[in-house]
Amino acid sequence: MNRQRPETRKACVVITSWDDGSILDNELSKLLNRYQINGTFYVPQRCDPLDLIDENELKKLARDFEIGAHTLTHRRLDTLSPAEAKGEILGGKEYLSAILDQEIELFAYPEGKYTSETIDLVKECGFVAARTTQCFRIGRPLSPYTLWTTLQVYPNSLGKATGNIIRGRAFAHLAGISVLLRNVGKPWIDLAKAYFDYVHQYGGMFHLWGHSWEIERLRLWDELEDLLAYTRIFRGVSYMTTGEFLRTLQTR
Ligand SMILES: [Zn+2]
Repeated sequence: MNRQRPETRKACVVITSWDDGSILDNELSKLLNRYQINGTFYVPQRCDPLDLIDENELKKLARDFEIGAHTLTHRRLDTLSPAEAKGEILGGKEYLSAILDQEIELFAYPEGKYTSETIDLVKECGFVAARTTQCFRIGRPLSPYTLWTTLQVYPNSLGKATGNIIRGRAFAHLAGISVLLRNVGKPWIDLAKAYFDYVHQYGGMFHLWGHSWEIERLRLWDELEDLLAYTRIFRGVSYMTTGEFLRTLQTR
């Protein structure tokens, strides 16, 4: 009898998200489209001193990708009064909604900084989820308002993020940390591929994030393309926007 083996492989989900709305998001979107990789772009109205995409470019971006809010002027929310913070959070949402004529449901905290009051304001402003800059995580988020990531496109991602390894409840995610520990000292691209390999083998979420202006400044375009192409070699990978990923969690 030719019995099919049951599918035992766990889902491997790739998510990408990109902050700040720089004009280089136009180049980044072309790269993602070339590899048919989904993404969420978090766009503020202003982010000095960067040149940001204009309204027409934003509309074009929104045809292929998910758009989330990133405040009005990219100020750190943990330093503002509640009224100022709410103005930034709601203003950023209304700015995008008016241009795109769509409800904006996702938010990213500028510089990843937030307090419990910030989370309350984000909920109050009607967002369904918010992304932090916590990384080295591959498991499902503890809360939709503190979504975490796996890796930033950044050469010294370990040095930059050491603080958030030991903060919070990271040790509840030993699998993510174990990949990190096995790859200490390696270039970020090797660490990124090691994370992807782990998620592909054991299941989970590989959430890559970054800034197109930083990729340009640090000349990381070729490495990013190498990584995107690498994920395309494997079968059984689901490329999702953050919103799509959240909906899969709700239906489980
Ligand atoms: Zn930002």
